[in-house]
Parts: sequence; C-alpha cells; structure tokens
Amino acid sequence: MTGTWTDCEKNMATTARVLIVEDEANIRELVGLHLRHEGYSCELVADGALALGVAEAEAFDLVVLDVMLPGLDGLSLCRAIRNGKKNPAVPILMLTARGEESDKVVGLESGADDYLTKPFGGLELVARARALLRRVRTPATEQAARDADGVVTVHGVEIDISRRRVRVLGNEVELTDQEFRLLHLLATHAGIVFSREALLSKIWRGDTFVTVRSVDTLVKRLRRRIEADPANPLHLLTVWGVGYKFADVP
Ligand code: CA
Repeated sequence: MTGTWTDCEKNMATTARVLIVEDEANIRELVGLHLRHEGYSCELVADGALALGVAEAEAFDLVVLDVMLPGLDGLSLCRAIRNGKKNPAVPILMLTARGEESDKVVGLESGADDYLTKPFGGLELVARARALLRRVRTPATEQAARDADGVVTVHGVEIDISRRRVRVLGNEVELTDQEFRLLHLLATHAGIVFSREALLSKIWRGDTFVTVRSVDTLVKRLRRRIEADPANPLHLLTVWGVGYKFADVP
C-alpha cells in the first residue's frame, strides 16, 4: 500500500508527521489511509513497546493511539511519551472501544488530548486530527511562555503564576486560592478534558469532605469571575457527561 503514497512522502519535510499505534491491522491501515490522504506522513506500528521506541527516537506532530495494545498498553504508552524527551507535548488522540474505556482515558488522566470511540468514521478522524494539529502547543512555545516571566496567556486570560494574579482582557480579577488553582490547571492544559473526579483530586488534594458537586460549584464561581456571560461561557467549557475543559487554542 505504501507505494501509492510516494508523492505524499516526498513532501515529508513540510507535512505533519503522525505516529499511528494500533494492533488491529484493518483499523491501523484505515487510519493510515485517511491521514495520508490528508497529506500527513504516517508511521504505522502494531505494538506498544515498539511504538515507545519509535517515539523516543523521533519527533512527531501527532500520535494516534489505541488503548488496548500488546507489548505496552495505550495508557501506559501515552504517559511514557509524555514523560519522554522527544515528544512531551505532542497532541495524542486515543482510540477506545465503546463504553468503559472512554471514561478510563479521561479518568486516569493518561495525558491524551482527545479520544475517538470505535467504530468511527474517516471524516471524524480527520477532523479530530486536524484540530489537534492546529493547536499550537509545542514544548518550545509552551515552555517559553511559562518560563519568560511565569505568565501564561490563553484567549485573553492572563495568569501570572508567581504573583497569583489573573487578568481578563487586561482587567485584573480577584480569585480565591481554589479558583486560581482550577483556572491554572485548565488553562495550562487548554483543550484537555478533565473529569470531575480528576479535578476533585487535583484541586482539593485528598479533602474527604468534598464531592463532585463541589467541582460544579467551583466552576460556576470561576465562570462568574472570568466569563463575560457566565451562562454562555467562552473559556471554561462543560463537556457533557465527561467534565470540563478550557477552550482549545484556535
Ligand atoms: Ca487494540
């Protein structure tokens, strides 16, 4: 099949490089077919452990990853890629089976940016891949923004970490410690969906007197501080049935 795509591969230097990890040959080939059709240069791997070797050796612009894999499972692989040196901020799209796995991807905070439940259509796959590739979230830009003066700016929301100050479109807003921590966590992971449980453990750190409802309450409070219209939020978005996320960087 690869012979068909020599023209695409000639343009490798200018096209996005995608690592596809899936043990089911049909799905692997199909994902490769769709993404190559988009002009991306694709590397197809069937085994999790082999894929980690590839991800440790080369930089990619996108990783498409199945959850159930031989060698090393997708969630562990995802974390290993995040903790590695070559691709710590690469967008990762997880492929999951219907049902439990989808929750697991979000709940375990594997570090995936998005997920697709099988079976999925080619158009949906391509749309998700494009969206992830558009996101400017390279380690260089993200880290530079953080290191420069400890200020992160996302969608006009400016978070000064060292001074614990927040400005929205230039206007300073007062936040409680919890509100600040929630905003900081979500805004520095723009586009990544956090489950209520994940937010609970991260923001309240083991406080046993809070429930997932506390997360909803905190989100409401934070929206009143940073959203022009809290009923129609532009920054702090609800992902129905899953949790919350900060709006993707356009
Ligand atoms: Ca599989």
